[in-house]
Amino acid sequence: MRVCAILTAAGLGERLGANVPKALVPVNGKALVAWAFENLAASGVVGHVIVTCPPGFEGPFAEALGIAPPGEPVLPVPCAPAETHAFTALPATPSAFVATLLQSAPPAHTGDTMCLAPDDVTNDFSLTQASAPSGPLIKSLPTADPVSSPQSRTSPLSEPGPSAELLVGGGTRQESVAAALAALPDDCEIVLVHDAARPFASPALVQSVVEAVAAGNPAVIPGIPVADTIKRLDHPLPAPVEPTAGGFPPQGAFVVGTEPRELLAAIQTPQGFRRDVLERAHKEAEGTATDDAALVEALGEPVLVIAGEPTARKITTPQDLAWAENLFSPI
Ligand code: C5P
Repeated sequence: MRVCAILTAAGLGERLGANVPKALVPVNGKALVAWAFENLAASGVVGHVIVTCPPGFEGPFAEALGIAPPGEPVLPVPCAPAETHAFTALPATPSAFVATLLQSAPPAHTGDTMCLAPDDVTNDFSLTQASAPSGPLIKSLPTADPVSSPQSRTSPLSEPGPSAELLVGGGTRQESVAAALAALPDDCEIVLVHDAARPFASPALVQSVVEAVAAGNPAVIPGIPVADTIKRLDHPLPAPVEPTAGGFPPQGAFVVGTEPRELLAAIQTPQGFRRDVLERAHKEAEGTATDDAALVEALGEPVLVIAGEPTARKITTPQDLAWAENLFSPI
């Protein structure tokens, strides 16, 4: 199993003001953590997922994800019946499509069930459940994120549906990631760290990050250009920073400098790393960072930023949640 994902979901997300941990808050009837998990699974390149949850919430998380609570055996997540589309960049003929699948099947999995292919593939090529000559059974996998499916594509790193386990997280995000790193299977070589707070990062983005690490980059992170002018301050702004009924908060901060906007990016997850690099970064970490790439930067290792996507937006406030619900509103 080459690629494992750490899905961080152990935060309480108090800024959302919900009465459950943020990752359990539903969007269109499904918990944020379940959306994030399904999008990782739908990428087809992740072999195992460790989900961090807050202490005392093992049961609700296990139920939301349909997986075993901590301490119980880890089972592969079954392929679900086809509903939506997962891949659009298709080989031109049915035989080329089957050849691609066979090439992408890791030898250890030849003969196993694979979760691959969309309805448009299966409809076009009548492969909803086809046994390829010497190899895998091809089944359809639904894409969790309806807005992402046009970008999805096949990958040479394809995995069958991932196995998954729950792990009680630590007091900070960094501690949660460190705990999950210590629990990685021995054969994992590439680690994705993904926040459940970004439930609609698409399967295509997951694939792109993994492929860029597999191509030799020790650390790969998605980013999008910033629209606002960003200024460096002499100290943090007091919360809340939004205008209030009585005007802006009276206290502020002084500007130290203005950053050149074209050289800035708002960084998202999933972030992908060579396992040894991420382990060293956490081992040598001094202080607390808000993402894993910052720890790798501190090692002096190069961190590649690739194009992120607007739908990988972080759900922090009730306004973010309203944006997410709106993705499912009829146009
Ligand atoms: O707090 P923040 O929104 O930056 O958290 C980012 C991600 O880290 C969230 O998905 C949250 O659930 C996770 N987290 C965690 N363990 C913590 C705190 C946060 O896994 N102790």
